[in-house]
Amino acid sequence: MKSDSTLSNLGEFGLIDRIRARFPQPALPEMGIGDDAALLNPAPGMQLVVSTDLLAEGVHFERSFGQLRLLGRKSLAVNLSDLAAMGARPRWFFLSLAIPAGFPLDEIEVFLDGLAEQAAEHGVLLAGGDTCGSRSGLVISVTVMGEQQPERLLRRSGGRPGDDIWVSGTLGDSALGLQLLLGQTEKTDDAATKYVIHRHLDPAPRCGLGQMLAEAGLVSAMIDISDGLLADLGHICKQSGCGAELQLGQVPRSPQFSALVDAASPSFWHLMVAGGEDYELCFTAPAERRDAILKQAKTAGIPATVIGKLNDSGRVVARLPDGSIFQPSASGYTHF
Ligand code: ADP
Ligand code: MG
Repeated sequence: MKSDSTLSNLGEFGLIDRIRARFPQPALPEMGIGDDAALLNPAPGMQLVVSTDLLAEGVHFERSFGQLRLLGRKSLAVNLSDLAAMGARPRWFFLSLAIPAGFPLDEIEVFLDGLAEQAAEHGVLLAGGDTCGSRSGLVISVTVMGEQQPERLLRRSGGRPGDDIWVSGTLGDSALGLQLLLGQTEKTDDAATKYVIHRHLDPAPRCGLGQMLAEAGLVSAMIDISDGLLADLGHICKQSGCGAELQLGQVPRSPQFSALVDAASPSFWHLMVAGGEDYELCFTAPAERRDAILKQAKTAGIPATVIGKLNDSGRVVARLPDGSIFQPSASGYTHF
């Protein structure tokens, strides 16, 4: 990259050329960047699965975190997580950018480094996008497309009373990491702090696990946890016409989380079940499928834990280890 190049002398089309050069393109007869629209061929008999997410500076990220590479990774990861939650295989993505005039080109390149890394890790091709100026910070919109056999796709609406409620991985790390980044909690330089901050800045979408569960036909409903377990499980319950009882003591947490947060502090449970941005999967399944699910999770290399049961109460009740009911001060992030 030329050190004297700037966004303004590169121009919109120069930037698009540069973006195009960074990503492998779909093979013929498909078409990616360069014409008025992309041409894509899902495999015969497959349902196209599409999800889009917007990341706005000052809302979803602060440039002062100085982690443009990780932001590139995360802007694709959050979308891949939506495909994981449907059980779809990711194939293509679209990138739309609104960039403030004078935004340093080398920072855009670093953002693209992270994006290209994540795309390569998940085998998704950049097939197009849009580019314009912004008068209020960097805005990144990513749309991903995946595919799956229609009868394999998992929805939020398939849960039934009596089903187990499962989560993948551990919860709370990301919300704690964000708190540390924002300086709401004293930040130290130890390995546990670094781990939870990394979990916030570089979440790992559970694409392999989501696809395997869908293809094995083991799961009745699934969602990814972006707004916090209680809020997202609430969506499964609402769309499945169920209620839920959660045993919070069974909710998996990382050793790093336990080392950093006192189990007696009011934020302990809150971070775990109402913090958000975990990008783990929450899913439901009949109890007789437990062993099969544990086996799949083992193959995928991601732990999966039963944390409660669906019921017909119509509400989500979260029980603390002493049997009392946990009342979150607010469940999940709301924009308006
Ligand atoms: P139009 O004016 O017809 O919308 P553009 O000039 O915006 O077309 O885009 C030209 C081509 O470049 C299209 O194939 C579009 O998908 C692609 N493109 C534009 N911006 C981006 C971007 N940020 N990332 C990837 N592809 C892009
Ligand atoms: Mg355009």
